[in-house]
Amino acid sequence: MTEQNKSIEVNDIRSALALLSDDPKELISTDEPVDPMAELSGVYRYVGAHGTVMRPTRIGPAMVFNQIKGYQDMRVLIGLLSSRQRVAKLLGTTSEKLPFLLKDSVSNPIAPIVVDSANAPCQEVVHKASDPDFDILKILPAPTNTEEDAGPYFTLGMCYAADPETGEHDVTIHRLCIQGKDEISMYFVPGRHLDTFRQKAEAAGKALPISISIGVDPAIEIGACFEPPTTPLGFDELSVAGSLRGKPVELVQCKHVDVQAIARAEIVIEGELVPDVRVQEDQHTHTGKAMPEFPGYTGEAKAAIPLIKVKAITHRRHPIMQTCIGPSDEHTNMAGIPTEASILQMVERALPGFVQNVHCPSPGTGKYLAVLQVKKRTEADEGRQRQAALLAFSAFSELKHVMLVDEDVDIYDMNDVMWAMTTRYQGDVSTVFIPGVRCHPLDPSSDPAFTPSSRHHGIACKAIFDCTVPYALKANFQRSKFKEVDVKRFIPDFK
Ligand code: MN
Repeated sequence: MTEQNKSIEVNDIRSALALLSDDPKELISTDEPVDPMAELSGVYRYVGAHGTVMRPTRIGPAMVFNQIKGYQDMRVLIGLLSSRQRVAKLLGTTSEKLPFLLKDSVSNPIAPIVVDSANAPCQEVVHKASDPDFDILKILPAPTNTEEDAGPYFTLGMCYAADPETGEHDVTIHRLCIQGKDEISMYFVPGRHLDTFRQKAEAAGKALPISISIGVDPAIEIGACFEPPTTPLGFDELSVAGSLRGKPVELVQCKHVDVQAIARAEIVIEGELVPDVRVQEDQHTHTGKAMPEFPGYTGEAKAAIPLIKVKAITHRRHPIMQTCIGPSDEHTNMAGIPTEASILQMVERALPGFVQNVHCPSPGTGKYLAVLQVKKRTEADEGRQRQAALLAFSAFSELKHVMLVDEDVDIYDMNDVMWAMTTRYQGDVSTVFIPGVRCHPLDPSSDPAFTPSSRHHGIACKAIFDCTVPYALKANFQRSKFKEVDVKRFIPDFK
């Protein structure tokens, strides 16, 4: 962090960009006009998507496109969180401390507050859906990520609504496809809290007011990705961001629906999830495809999903539309760091001091794979590593694989993890299978066609890969010890 940056307090997307603005390794921009239809994502795939995106790709800077074909006065930001180092910088910590920071934040939530419209930049410009020429896509440059997608999607909308019975709130990110001038489809993976709210409203024959805030403080985007049991039904995940910043998230009452939105957002879509209406996700393309999802494959278009009727769009002057590529490291970080924090919280309660750190690495999408680093202190700790793995599965139900390594393995270097799997692992004795457990529907191998132990799509075989040295054999597994030296004597600027 430079001297200049130390004074920047991040509370929205503009201050986040300002924090990165002096570093071309973290943020670049272009004035070359870009087509939001497939071209924008096609560019960023090479520049910085990484994750499970098809190769070649790489970890790179976030990118702002200043000229969007067909739009005046609109910019698009992509890849803000597509590097773990950048996330750490934006949250004022280091890569290794991120899960601990998140764990502490979820334990010490700070509830959001409501400010008036005059203090809500997101309401500087208002477009009412009742205006005859209102058209979502004429106002907002939502990218279509690949040519075969069901349509343009909002990929980084913070969806916020209240439980119609209790008034408690929830914020989550969902797949939102633009279906018409004032219509957006919303896909819920089963069990999501907002869907529970929607079902309650629908059972009462009512619409569920919802706001979609786009372009917000990255602390909100990361906090929004916590899931139960860490944040149970009724836990407003905006309070995680409040804790991360030591300051409540500011909300504002929407202009045309009865719900709040994030006051410092770039763009807010105000709408209602209408009861008893379902829409075919690919009704305009009939490709059978939705959009690229985080496991690296394009999700199948759903036959019948809920619909949002949009009532208004509000935005800042000269707004920044924020988007991501589903399979990029942006997803790995948003989903994975809360997963790491959730696992740490669970194992620390049960086995204090045993698990040193947790990493949900890029190839595991943030959700499907966790690497746990443990320290066996005595013979009595032998076997506790597998108990830690079972706790990890309890902490996050969508987790499929847990890899266990010792304290001398770098969990941020998958080469080192694979070395442990090569020299400290024997397939027949070091693997534990837990077949027939429901995991996540977007893993294409979790399917009866792939394995007879999967009774339904989304049911998988969870597995533990124990790459730790048995305590009694530790003496046989010492890494070659090199002499500690002062490299700077030889290379003064060595880092
Ligand atoms: Mn929730």
